[in-house]
Amino acid sequence: MTLDPASPAAELDALILDVLRHRVGKDELAAKSHDWFNAAVLALRDKVIDRWIESTRRTYEEKGKRVYYLSAEFLIGRLLRDAMSNLGLTRDMEKALCEHGLDLAALEELEPDAALGNGGLGRLAACFMESLSTLDIPAYGYGIRYVNGMFRQRVVDGWQVERPETWLAHGNPWEFDRRESAYLIGFGGEVVEKADGVEWKPAEQVEASAVDTPVVGWRGKRVNTLRLWTASALEPLKLDAFNAGDHFGALADEVKADALVRVLYPADSSAAGQELRLRQEYFFTSASIQDIVRRHVQYEGDVRTLPDHAAIQLNDTHPSVAVAELMRLLVDNHGLEFDEAWEVTKKTVAYTNHTLLPEALESWPLPLFERLLPRHMQIIYAINSRVLREARKAGLADAAIAAISLIDEGGERRVRMANLAFVGAHSVNGVAALHTDLMKSTVFADLHKLYPTRINNKTNGVTPRRWLQQCNPGLTSVIRDAIGPAFLDDAEKLSDLNALAADSELGERVALVKRANKVALSQHIKELTGIRLNPDALFDVQIKRIHEYKRQLLNLIETVALYDQIRSHPERDWVPRVKIFGGKAAPSYHNAKLIIKLANDIARRVNSDPSVGGVLKVVFVPNYNVTLAERIIPAANLSEQISTAGMEASGTGNMKFALNGALTIGTLDGANVEIKDKVGDENIFIFGLTAEEVLAKRAEGYVPREVIEGSRELQQAVAAIASGVFSPDDPDRYAALMGGIYDHDWFMCAADFDSYAAAQRKVDALWEQPKLWRQQAIRNIANVGWFSSDRTIGEYAKEIWGVK
Ligand SMILES: *Cc1c(COP(=O)(O)O)cnc(C)c1O
Repeated sequence: MTLDPASPAAELDALILDVLRHRVGKDELAAKSHDWFNAAVLALRDKVIDRWIESTRRTYEEKGKRVYYLSAEFLIGRLLRDAMSNLGLTRDMEKALCEHGLDLAALEELEPDAALGNGGLGRLAACFMESLSTLDIPAYGYGIRYVNGMFRQRVVDGWQVERPETWLAHGNPWEFDRRESAYLIGFGGEVVEKADGVEWKPAEQVEASAVDTPVVGWRGKRVNTLRLWTASALEPLKLDAFNAGDHFGALADEVKADALVRVLYPADSSAAGQELRLRQEYFFTSASIQDIVRRHVQYEGDVRTLPDHAAIQLNDTHPSVAVAELMRLLVDNHGLEFDEAWEVTKKTVAYTNHTLLPEALESWPLPLFERLLPRHMQIIYAINSRVLREARKAGLADAAIAAISLIDEGGERRVRMANLAFVGAHSVNGVAALHTDLMKSTVFADLHKLYPTRINNKTNGVTPRRWLQQCNPGLTSVIRDAIGPAFLDDAEKLSDLNALAADSELGERVALVKRANKVALSQHIKELTGIRLNPDALFDVQIKRIHEYKRQLLNLIETVALYDQIRSHPERDWVPRVKIFGGKAAPSYHNAKLIIKLANDIARRVNSDPSVGGVLKVVFVPNYNVTLAERIIPAANLSEQISTAGMEASGTGNMKFALNGALTIGTLDGANVEIKDKVGDENIFIFGLTAEEVLAKRAEGYVPREVIEGSRELQQAVAAIASGVFSPDDPDRYAALMGGIYDHDWFMCAADFDSYAAAQRKVDALWEQPKLWRQQAIRNIANVGWFSSDRTIGEYAKEIWGVK
């Protein structure tokens, strides 16, 4: 194949060859695939940079308001396809590479998955960055450039084993060092009086310096910046110590700085681990706030106008020390009065809450906080005294005042980061309607009484570029043929599919794409695990972090019950099912790791049992990440969103599946409630207790043992697991896990089992009517365009940030 020399593909090809020779330093004849990969990325990057510079110039000229999104996580995944597709260059790239006998899809596999996040919260930040660019809003994402980030999960003999993720091992062609944007970050020391106030004299300092990654919006309208901070010691090598023979001691400062940016969420079971986390949070927050204030003062002069030019959004409490840091800069460095600084801070900062679990709300032991950040501690006390005075004036009771306080006085004194974020922000938002309602009545009930207009809802969303167009090109082209291309620019236009939901030709085309995606996934899973899947079976998928509240255990118990049923009634026409699980467990979370082992134990037993005859297969896919999600979701028929009601703030996996035509089986939790409202009750399988019923049940003294004994299927499944049927090598392995369900069943697996199993049999029944199934799948695709992160970001822009 030869390219028309005037075509954009030929131009790209020439650029790639030039880059290969002059920047990668390779002869075309000797280049390996990773050389071609680098050349392709660098060539594409040149196109991105032109738009990046143009966007930045425009922002400075327009003097508009910038959005600053502070997040401990950005789970961005691979960037090549995203940038290429958003610039409309995918076809040209394919053609250019084809000239050299190269396959774009194969080259894409060489890009590591940026492991800068944990789960939903980090992926949300990534979707938001893409939507901010798409909506042409000037924005910076601020976070940490973790060298290893989130661990890589291996499964060895069914157990999770954590390995360091080495995503930067071969460099990162997407990032740019910005050594001019460097700031000193202090820790410890003391606060001293000066003539005009006080001064913090830190005992230690590290340097934060910026590493920038461009974020391309859809159709390349704007390119924003993801600015991640890296750390270095002021004196990287103590030469005198080194020369005196102390070769390790000479490097101690550098090692300490490096530890700040090594891993995401270092284990906090030790005091050292806890301190490292607090240091990380302050490190990236301080660098970001210094950068924001520096930029503002440089271009606007007066620090008092900061709220007119900057909107700072805190993604959960990890960056909430920003409230105290901004106060410190305004008062100590810019000479503002405390009251004035407080008004500027509140007008600039907004906070997003992501969890209602009291144990997950961050707090720091007060002595640790005071030792590391003595000036911030003073500022927090000063803020607290203002807030508590306001509370008293408003007539709140002592218990409410104690709950509002920034300091938890019960037992060991602790600094409450969520309360700090709440009082220092003009907006506090939840991430789904139900979650926001529960915030008002539970975690923030008293703060909500004091500041009744502060809490608002912004239901999460996902970017349809990555989660439809890029991960499912087949479905995208079927939709485009059916309703035209308008949905590519406005996901809510997917609703035009409603008129065609019963069109059998469309149903068949959608089903063909789904089958092709299942074949591709089966091939991939075969390579990863050796397990063979039947692509005509119902693909039933639960992929997300492993956590008891997400109830992988409910799904596994039901799997065992189904396995029993199939063996007892082999004569029935069972719907062939593949149960797919994936997800990482926190390294210190014992039960979550045991659940992974259980999934693997069940898989081994079921998959090798000839009496189920391939009707049931179970797989645990290792190392769940963005790239794996992009493969699995387009191939799913059924999406498991089965958290204990009231515990999942929103979920975003639920949105991705529905957008790709999977039907949801789920509880009335998080955004499932709104998904049900959009797709219609008849197009979703809802089961189980409501959030209100869960709370009532816990309050009235729920006895799971009675429930288990009243349900034969459940009892048999739990007993089989507990007695070692799936773990003959260690029969007691699951005794305690199942004992927990008998004894307290905090997450209501027993209470919801019968209703879940009944919903699963309804799923089977619908599967037997492929035409109806397809119609319902199309209804899902058609009605979840609202869950685009463009809609979410549009709401933040208008209602929180005050940008166009
Ligand atoms: C979307 C996504 C999540 C969030 O999934 P939930 O089901 O909402 O918990 C987590 N991890 C990855 C890699 C994702 O893409």
